[in-house]
Amino acid sequence: MTESARIPLTQLANEAAVSCANCAACCCQLEVMLISDTGVPRRFIAIDDWGGEVMRRLDDGWCAALDRDSMLCSIYEQRPLICREFETASAECLDERRGMPGIYR
Ligand code: SF4
Ligand code: SF4
Repeated sequence: MTESARIPLTQLANEAAVSCANCAACCCQLEVMLISDTGVPRRFIAIDDWGGEVMRRLDDGWCAALDRDSMLCSIYEQRPLICREFETASAECLDERRGMPGIYR
């Protein structure tokens, strides 16, 4: 019997369990271009090397608009279009979570 065979089925990770509530905001380290005006406050906007508007990121890589206590978006109602279209449990979401396995809260 392998180690994994002893784990109760209810404890096995599966895609249905993927939730922003149990994630360390992994996708909020990606570069986010602003392609429409959703009301993002100016203090969270930076200009990239090509003159485009992007979400400002802090030295540790996370978006400046991320609430670091809750690890939730502090501007949820004004978040950029790209953030709105990033789907929980999508292939991109799972990729980002796999990239940060050690920091889940
Ligand atoms: S969309 Fe995916 S990667 Fe982004 S916070 Fe939610 S679970 Fe984490
Ligand atoms: S604007 Fe909000 S959802 Fe988008 S990357 Fe920043 S913290 Fe995450």
